[in-house]
This record gives sequence, structure tokens and C-alpha cells, in this order.
Amino acid sequence: MSDNLPGNVLKCVPSQKNFSFSENTTYGCGGVAETAYFPRTEDEVCRLFDALTKQGKKFFILGGGSNVLACDGVYDGAVICTSQLDDISFKAEGGNILIDAACGVKNARLMSLCKKNGFTGLEFLAGIPATIGGMVYMNAGSGTYISDCIKSVRFYDGKLHDISADECKFGYKHSIMRDIKCVITRIKLSAKRENPYIVEKNIKDVLAARRRLPRGKSCGCVFENYCGVSAGKLIESAGLKGERLGCAVVSPEHCNFIISDGERSSDVYRLIQRVKDRVYEKFGITLKEEVCYIGDFK
Ligand SMILES: Cc1cc2nc3c(=O)[nH]c(=O)nc-3n(C[C@H](O)[C@H](O)[C@H](O)COP(=O)(O)OP(=O)(O)OC[C@H]3O[C@@H](n4cnc5c(N)ncnc54)[C@H](O)[C@@H]3O)c2cc1C
Repeated sequence: MSDNLPGNVLKCVPSQKNFSFSENTTYGCGGVAETAYFPRTEDEVCRLFDALTKQGKKFFILGGGSNVLACDGVYDGAVICTSQLDDISFKAEGGNILIDAACGVKNARLMSLCKKNGFTGLEFLAGIPATIGGMVYMNAGSGTYISDCIKSVRFYDGKLHDISADECKFGYKHSIMRDIKCVITRIKLSAKRENPYIVEKNIKDVLAARRRLPRGKSCGCVFENYCGVSAGKLIESAGLKGERLGCAVVSPEHCNFIISDGERSSDVYRLIQRVKDRVYEKFGITLKEEVCYIGDFK
């Protein structure tokens, strides 16, 4: 019983002080979080969520860190890392395969599972450096989205909810979980059987197409497209191709990528604001960031 007290949960869950954002995000820049927690079970992550909420402590759920920009210096909140929530299993259901994954399973592992067992339908996700929880939260994909393969999602917001794909209200870069302070704990995905060699070839083709994307440290696309218009095209038309601010540069190959070749997140942030200002001046359009910020930048 005493184990349920908030203070005890915070002591029981493995944690790390001075958690480095540059080492744990694909942007490779930013400072540190005071404390990061690594819950190992759904029960632990839920109790941790409650404990931090009750203490009025700021916290951020971190998956693969591939769509975040963390502030420089010290983030005065906690980070809940989902990396230890990584069990995955599957079973046949009707003519389909049902994959049941914890939120912290890496996409690369999901792809290996599909390749090894001959499961098709998810190959379009290959190469996205994310966790399944993060991909569901953001409805990852491009043209085809992870929402097309989801059966149900379990999340915790003080209570556990199991909701169907329809109830997730998926849209472009959107799920209902983005509107609530919550942690996605488990996901059920649907796939079909296929010859493993064909699945492997499909994955290879997707990875080959991805090699055309800009190299360097980034979060992928920084901005959402605007009403179907490519944000990259708007940025290029505003004359920002190759624009540099300190260690941040608008990729000349794909203007919706801002690459960082240094350690200052503030440079990336200020370049993002400059891009927004210029696009607004030129087209009267306010671009919306897809990247999620951790901490204060002002
Ligand atoms: C090289 C590169 C290529 C990319 N290509 C694509 C692409 O093709 N398509 C695409 O859509 N995106 C792409 N991205 C962006 C990114 O990979 C996706 O947005 C992905 O969904 C983020 O998942 P993550 O696990 O890394 O989440 P994080 O970056 O860790 O977090 C992103 C957001 O999700 C929240 N979150 C993460 N896990 C949970 C959870 N369990 N519960 C609740 N909230 C959670 C975080 O709090 C945060 O708000 C790319 C990024 C890079 C660096």
C-alpha cells in the first residue's frame, strides 16, 4: 500500500539525473533535464504520471526523441522515457495479424519483426527513427499514415482508456492524444501475411527512397504542410534555401528540414522563427511547427 505513495513511486522507478538531450534526441542539441525516469511496466508509468501530476511537476514524455527540440541549459521538469516499455507480441486474428506493442518499441524493431515473420502493411514506416508510441501520438507517415494500420490504442490520463482507431480521431499529424495530457501505453496494429522476401524488398525500397532525404541532425520536417501546400516549397519560394543562423541551416536539398551542426538549440529555434516570419511576410501564411518543444525558448 505504502508503495502507492507518490514519493515512493519516484524512488522505485529507475532514474537518471542530468539527462542529456543532445545524446537522446535526433537533433543532437540542447541541455539537460534535472531527472529522467525509465518506467519498466504500464503500472509504473501510470503511477509515475500520477505522482508527477500530484506534485505539480512539469514533465515530458520522450519516445525516440526524433521530433523534439529541447532547450539549452537545464529543463526544470522531469522526462519520462518510454525506452524500457518495449515488449511486443503478435497473434493471428481472422485473416490478419494483430501486433500488440508497448509504446517504447522502436520502429526499427517493428520492421525487423515484420521482415522476419512476413507481415505486410507497415513497410511504409521503415526508416522513421521513432518509437511506436511517438508515431501514434503524431500519426506518423507521409501519404500513408500509421493510423491506417491501427486497431486500438491504450492511454493513461489518470485512468486507463482503450480506444478504437476511430475514437483516436486521427488526422494529418494529429491524434486525440495530442489534445490531452496523457501517456500512450500500448498499441494494437493490424498487418497481413506475406512472403518475408517480399516484405524485405518493400522495406528496402522505402529505405532507398529515404536516402534522398537530407543528411545531418534534424527532426525530419519542422513544419506541417499548409492546407495541402508543401511547407518546404513555401520556404524555398520565400528565398530561405540554405539560410543559416549559427549552427542551424535550412537544408538546400529539402527546405522543410533544418539541420543542426552544433549544440545550440537556440540557433535552431531562432531560425525556425525567422522562417515563419519570412513566409508570413511573403505569403501571409503562418506555418505551424510539427516539431515539439521541450522547455522555454524565450
Ligand atoms: C530523419 C527523420 C525522418 C523522419 N521522417 C518522418 C516521416 O517520414 N514521417 C513522419 O510523420 N515523421 C517523420 N519524422 C519525425 C518523427 O520521427 C515522428 O514525428 C515520430 O512520430 C516521433 O516519434 P518519437 O518516438 O521519436 O517521439 P518523440 O520525438 O520522442 O516525441 C514526439 C511527441 O510525441 C510525444 N510522445 C512520444 N511518445 C509518447 C507516448 N508514449 N505517449 C504520449 N506522448 C508521446 C512526445 O511527448 C512529443 O510530444 C522524421 C524524423 C527524423 C529525424
